[in-house]
Amino acid sequence: MSTATKPSALTFDLHGRCSTSKARASTLQLPHGAVELPMFMPVATQASLKGLTPEQLEETGCRLCLNNTYHLGLKPGQAVLDTIGGAHKLQGWNYNILTDSGGFQMVSLLKLAKITEEGVRFLSPHDGSPMLLTPEHSMSLQNSIGSDIMMQLDDVIQTTSPDRARMKEAMERSIRWLDRCIVAHKYPESQNLFCIIQGGLNLEMRRQCCLEMVKRDTPGIAIGGLSGGEAKTDFCKVVDTCTSLFPEKKPRYVMGIGYPEDIVVAVALGADMFDCVWPTRTARFGNAITACGVLNLKHARYAEDFGPVEEGCSCTCCRAKQDGGLGVSRAYIYHLAAKETVGAHLLTMHNVHHLLSLMGRIRTAILEDRYPAFCKDFFVKYFESQPPPEWAVDALKGVGIDI
Ligand SMILES: [Zn+2]
Repeated sequence: MSTATKPSALTFDLHGRCSTSKARASTLQLPHGAVELPMFMPVATQASLKGLTPEQLEETGCRLCLNNTYHLGLKPGQAVLDTIGGAHKLQGWNYNILTDSGGFQMVSLLKLAKITEEGVRFLSPHDGSPMLLTPEHSMSLQNSIGSDIMMQLDDVIQTTSPDRARMKEAMERSIRWLDRCIVAHKYPESQNLFCIIQGGLNLEMRRQCCLEMVKRDTPGIAIGGLSGGEAKTDFCKVVDTCTSLFPEKKPRYVMGIGYPEDIVVAVALGADMFDCVWPTRTARFGNAITACGVLNLKHARYAEDFGPVEEGCSCTCCRAKQDGGLGVSRAYIYHLAAKETVGAHLLTMHNVHHLLSLMGRIRTAILEDRYPAFCKDFFVKYFESQPPPEWAVDALKGVGIDI
């Protein structure tokens, strides 16, 4: 029997497991350096995190960010990416990049997108000419981008869709498209292709998809199609079902998740990687993510609050001047929020840093085998005066954690 495995550009080292829940702590060695899991990946759609320079993003501690294949494919375009040598060089980012397949943006942004077995057909937003994104084209674009982690093209439909036949078709087509992606991927020794499990909220379909895709032995595995308006209880069931079918020694990525409470629960259910535009988007609305919940600093109650955005936070925005930070106060953000974009930039810095430092605390708690106590403490603080949401209580109870 052959023991040869498919080429892969990553190594995955599992360091610790929670003795109660399914939480794990590991290190993922990627072409542009190591990242520690569980981790949150900020989204830099246009090869830039809105409001932050690459240096500022580096300062937040981020070592893996997301770029958007669809946007980069349109502008600067594949020819420019090939000339310059990929997205790392384009944006002056020496750490890791993950790219989506480009499919999701087409389906979500372009009402006229049509999905056939061949690929996703749509009209160019520039000149209205017909275009087709196939699994082969998605791989070719991501090869030109040079991302450390590339995602397969999948057939995504809203999880809440009642059309069971269409859901099944999308799940099965995603498996066929994965096979085409594997064949088309030119650099498996230097770029990692992740498969994406589909199947909506139907656990049997998710199981089938897991069994088929795990056989394909991709370097990492993602759970897709969630965060589309489904009930949190359903979301948890899907994550729990899928992680139970995944091999232990591969990174597990739940796409589109960014609320701290969702991440804390998904980690307990055995997930390792998350991404979401929410922490950066909400910063632009004046919202600061803190351990005590989300604060809207546009509120007049902060007009004379001269404390930092979050007490004890070590981000560049919150850190005192004498400690090399900017020493920004809530009152200053309140003052800026209404009229100056710099307020949004400062909060983006804080929010990304907050999420990354939350992930660091989660990791330490798992390594020290006190994740159940961490969860309890997190929910008490984050929901302050209110009881924790019922879906979280139930999901955590399912893996042995009482909060
Ligand atoms: Zn801060």
